Amino acid sequence: MNEHQRHVKARQDIMKGNTPEKRIFVHMEDLDEKKKRQDEVKLERERRNARMDVLKDAKTPWFCPECDKVMKKRLDNKMYRLYNHCMDCQVKFENKLRIDGKFEEWEEQKVLNNQLSYINDQIQSIEDWKDQTSKPFEVFDQVGIKDIELETEKWSDNKEQIEEMSKEALEELNKMKTEVEEKLNSFAI
Ligand SMILES: [Zn+2]
Repeated sequence: MNEHQRHVKARQDIMKGNTPEKRIFVHMEDLDEKKKRQDEVKLERERRNARMDVLKDAKTPWFCPECDKVMKKRLDNKMYRLYNHCMDCQVKFENKLRIDGKFEEWEEQKVLNNQLSYINDQIQSIEDWKDQTSKPFEVFDQVGIKDIELETEKWSDNKEQIEEMSKEALEELNKMKTEVEEKLNSFAI
């Protein structure tokens, strides 16, 4: 008996005043295992966010760690967050790069690294979305016939579409990622 026939039979049973076969949905994968994995992913994500927050909110020290100059200007704060030294040190650093003829290269690497982290974020969010939306489930004993019908339809309608959309997006992103990585590698000294 397939899913549709089951529903038909259940409806017939109800019409006849009989008790329909009871079934419920249960995820195919072991629920504990799945939960554990989700918790791990969540924890790792939280850890990563916390690390980002620490970097973002890290209090700028009073003195530049490189030149020991007092840091107080807003620009110093901004520079410290980005490069771990004061504005003057950054100006000096960039000037030296210019003199050495490496400034363009450095800037290009900076842009590429930003692109790479953007691409990685996108890939991660698609993986998460896929994981969230395409959880497979299997039918066992039931709770409500109508619910099952809706769930089954929702799932089978979406699954293919989700697979296709995420596959396309991931392919494109991975292609971009490879290109960016290749460019970055070409700088590696
Ligand atoms: Zn400094």
